[in-house]
Amino acid sequence: MKITDVSVKAFRTRADRWDTGHALPLPKAEIRQTITTIETDEGITGHYLGGAFHGIDTEGLTISDAEMLNGRIRALLLGQDPFDRELIWKWMWVANIQENVASVIDNCLWDLAGRAHNAPVHKLMGGARDRVKAYASTYPNIGKPQVYADHALQCIAEGYRAYKIHPHYFWNPETGQPTPGRPSNIKADIETIRLVREAVGPDYVLMYDPWGTYMSLEEAIFVGRELERQNYYWYEHPMPEYRVESYVRLSRELTIPILSPEIAAGGVFTRAEWILRGAGDMTRIDTIRGGVTGARKTAVVAEAFGVRCEYHVGGWANLQVMGATSEDTSEFYEKGLLAPGVDFDAPHPYLGAICDKLDAEGYVTVPQTPGLGYDIIWDYIDDNRIP
Ligand SMILES: [Mg+2]
Repeated sequence: MKITDVSVKAFRTRADRWDTGHALPLPKAEIRQTITTIETDEGITGHYLGGAFHGIDTEGLTISDAEMLNGRIRALLLGQDPFDRELIWKWMWVANIQENVASVIDNCLWDLAGRAHNAPVHKLMGGARDRVKAYASTYPNIGKPQVYADHALQCIAEGYRAYKIHPHYFWNPETGQPTPGRPSNIKADIETIRLVREAVGPDYVLMYDPWGTYMSLEEAIFVGRELERQNYYWYEHPMPEYRVESYVRLSRELTIPILSPEIAAGGVFTRAEWILRGAGDMTRIDTIRGGVTGARKTAVVAEAFGVRCEYHVGGWANLQVMGATSEDTSEFYEKGLLAPGVDFDAPHPYLGAICDKLDAEGYVTVPQTPGLGYDIIWDYIDDNRIP
């Protein structure tokens, strides 16, 4: 089989979002989504929806990323065997192709392989489970501390078995105004940590992620001690991730597991170095930082060291990798981001179903149809094309 075409289609869609700068819902916000397609001489195709740099697959590639795919990358891939995923994956890393762009290609090739073999991607890799426990993951800045406590109870009522706080950053909860992130809002953050714990009871699983906004080791330790007192489950990405030594010291200092790196570049290679240095107690990856191939490799490295690998963000491709990774290594699916008044479960008009409907036990089922599992509504995409 040979690749005969690679193309990106951009289209307009709408979904509920949260304005984190002003702490307001953005109902039916307009979103640029893309679908990337790889075609072959045997008529089998592969698709990937999304490609935005932070890994959320409901947002598409930028215009310049799409141009790179339609131009340089297409020229490289024409005539290649679409089943040579490993060869192409290594080639893209060495050629220094942007991580999200290389990932879109890898994810498309996995979808294509699944369709060619009539199997969902996790079964192709080797199935480990059919469903994954989910946690409710909040937007940052959903409001003052009490808003988080009320929201956590609402999520419990909806069936979530765990709740992750993205606290206050780039927004001041006292004034309700956007800020450049300095100083940190530690007082409100600690109140949030306490009020949410008080609301949900002593044993409910809570995680905490200030997204790298604590600028010193002292700040990170100060908040971490409170998380330990309040029995939180993990402490994610508290400081900027390019200062690795501060993570080595933080992990030594605290007993709560540190989950990082999330946004550091370098995919599996960076994660392997962090594990060796003892920077963080758990590791983190998603399928836009090296594709399905890179995400699965990261889980294997983590497993070999007895370290957990918790996937960043949800979506079709992440769910497939989770389906091939045991719960001992990767426990939770990140569902969200959620905020009061934001309907995260509204169907996307370009897909027959969402990938991550929560079941009565608080789990999400790994899509079971061939490839990544999409049921694509082409009429909507064709009717809403943008450049
Ligand atoms: Mg995070």
